Amino acid sequence: MLVLAYESASAHDAALHNRRSMTELGPSPLAAREANLSVAQARAAIAAQLKPINARETVPIAQALGRMLAEDVVSPIDVPTHDNSAMDGYAFAGARLTDESPLVLEVVGTALAGKAWQGTVGPGQCLKIMTGAIMPAGLDTVAPQEVVQVATDGRVSIPAKLLRTGDNRRLKGEDLQQGCAALHAGTRLGPAACGLVASLGLAAVPVKRRLRVAYFSTGDEILSVGEAPSEGAVYDSNRYTVFGMLKHLGCEVIDMGVVRDDPSLLEHAFSTAASKADAIITSGGVSVGEADYTKAMMKKLGDVAFWRIAMRPGRPMAVGRIGSSVLFGLPGNPVAVMVTFLAFVRPALLRMMGCSAADAPLLKARSTEAIRKKPGRTEYQRGLVTTAADGTLQVRTTGNQGSGVLSSMVQANGLIVLHHAQGNVGAGGEVDIMMFDGVL
Ligand code: AMP
Ligand code: MG
Repeated sequence: MLVLAYESASAHDAALHNRRSMTELGPSPLAAREANLSVAQARAAIAAQLKPINARETVPIAQALGRMLAEDVVSPIDVPTHDNSAMDGYAFAGARLTDESPLVLEVVGTALAGKAWQGTVGPGQCLKIMTGAIMPAGLDTVAPQEVVQVATDGRVSIPAKLLRTGDNRRLKGEDLQQGCAALHAGTRLGPAACGLVASLGLAAVPVKRRLRVAYFSTGDEILSVGEAPSEGAVYDSNRYTVFGMLKHLGCEVIDMGVVRDDPSLLEHAFSTAASKADAIITSGGVSVGEADYTKAMMKKLGDVAFWRIAMRPGRPMAVGRIGSSVLFGLPGNPVAVMVTFLAFVRPALLRMMGCSAADAPLLKARSTEAIRKKPGRTEYQRGLVTTAADGTLQVRTTGNQGSGVLSSMVQANGLIVLHHAQGNVGAGGEVDIMMFDGVL
């Protein structure tokens, strides 16, 4: 059985654990070393085997953006701390409102935000109040200043039937109550969550430590930028697409460059990566019939399954463990790398980071063109989603869908996801989209 259980104390423990699982749990669907899997099976198999890292640290809010919350944030206060006005206007007792006639009130003072107004407001009286100012006891309703008429004697008149008791008043604790979980463990901290932490008066938050991910490209034909071009060689683009996707996830990236197809270089690269990283990503050399040492080295050093996934682009992928690091051996083609990363690696890394929402949501859009699709595999097409004249979303493909063609990936703002059982899509048919916004 392939065990991706995460964070064993050592590689030795991991090996023991693997052996124990194999005998105690019996053969798993992944027991086949060269398994044929659907995208859903592959995703489920990965998800079932990964555990979040435990290590955590406390960071100031300004450094918390994009980090994963390690424990619930319990609110030490009510937010807001007092009933207060939601508008600039006049605070009064709503019980005095009638449907028959305007309410005419004498103004006894002004309450400003930031300090409590001292005094009492009697029957027939009201208080001029600014947004955010505390509502004095006995007052529960605010008439916005633009609906009120001010007479020459200074009294204000509030039209009948316009307001109800409680209008334009924010209640103490209506956002958050003291002692409740304001944010849950596993939340990825975005700008709103950072603001919410600050609204509680907290300066720092407990987050999971950053995931360390090592990456290298394999293949004798792969050149690093800066090297002289040569016949048959291609520049290493995967290193930069993977680097970008890892950065967007908030990972610490260990860039190991291009590793030549040489057993001792590969062994050194895999061992170094496993000693430093929580996860190792490689590209190239995992196809069936690859005449190189990458697969052989993965087999030698780790517990790795070689999958053929019913998908396009993508198909071959190696998944397993080397030492205590999780390994994703992605195919070499540049778009296949990005698609397999989005379909499998991204949710897996988010799970390891302790994120409670690891899967990217899919949107629906209307395809402006017919798309040919064979049932029995998942296809990802590069699409440009736009808003149609009627306000609904529409999508068209961005040209050459070859698995090495990065330019059509650049023109796309999402992937059209054509599911396993789905067949041809007619022009105007609805399709699922994984938008790049927030993902790539
Ligand atoms: P492979 O999976 O090793 O058979 O590679 C499939 C295709 O992807 C080949 O055309 C490779 O030249 C290309 N390729 C592999 N690695 C990279 C890379 N790092 N950058 C760009 N293209 C690559
Ligand atoms: Mg190759």
